[in-house]
Amino acid sequence: MRSFLVAGNWKMNGSLAANAALIEGIRAGMPDSDAVDLLICPPFPYLAMAAGLVAGSRLKLGAQTVSEHDLGAYTGETAPSMLVDVGCEFDLVGHSERRALYGESSAVVAAKYVAAQSAGLKPVLCVGETLEEREAGNTEQVIEEQLNEVLRSAGVASLANAVIAYEPVWAIGTGKTASPEQAQDVHAHIRQLVDGHDETIAAALQILYGGSVKGENAAGLFGMPDIDGGLIGGAALKSDDFLAIADAAASIG
Ligand code: PEP
Repeated sequence: MRSFLVAGNWKMNGSLAANAALIEGIRAGMPDSDAVDLLICPPFPYLAMAAGLVAGSRLKLGAQTVSEHDLGAYTGETAPSMLVDVGCEFDLVGHSERRALYGESSAVVAAKYVAAQSAGLKPVLCVGETLEEREAGNTEQVIEEQLNEVLRSAGVASLANAVIAYEPVWAIGTGKTASPEQAQDVHAHIRQLVDGHDETIAAALQILYGGSVKGENAAGLFGMPDIDGGLIGGAALKSDDFLAIADAAASIG
């Protein structure tokens, strides 16, 4: 039986004071259920502080991206081992904003996935199609290409210690959510692709949905058989909004 993971991607938001209040609010209202894990992914400068603030709770910590290189002459970059050093367990890789705004190809995303996992982090691999790709009927092909790059680099066994987040680009930050049925179709396809390589790993793999998830639509999405939680952007920045989504997961799990 898979548990739910509700992950907050804070993007480039926050401050020392705002983060402390947000983490305190989440800790105070977290559902007391083994069926739901909560994860926050603050910006790099706040990770060490956040590690201190989540200590002693079930709230997990991750980063939003990482270098594909280890320590060395890479000005401005952050090595996977540094994320482990400050207390991260998870790391998002291949978020559509990284792919679109910073030119991260699927090959670079796969390299980051491998580097993160080699350092001991659990990568959350983000995949998803643009509106044009969906309208052209290419959703499944796009997801397959993104996933296959990782399977070629890391092998299916790597998915035993990873999470996939399906995030249709047209639903991120737009207020447009994929319907539970649209999301379920893609999630089932992803699981089937992995199942073609390894049945046990596919059955255990957590596949999150991301794209304008809110307290009001979370239960419908999380009620689908292949949706194991959410990657949350805007609604992760207020504890009440984030907790409403966590509660929706807990009510199902
Ligand atoms: C995201 O950025 O991963 C995301 C899903 O954002 P939002 O929830 O704001 O659509």
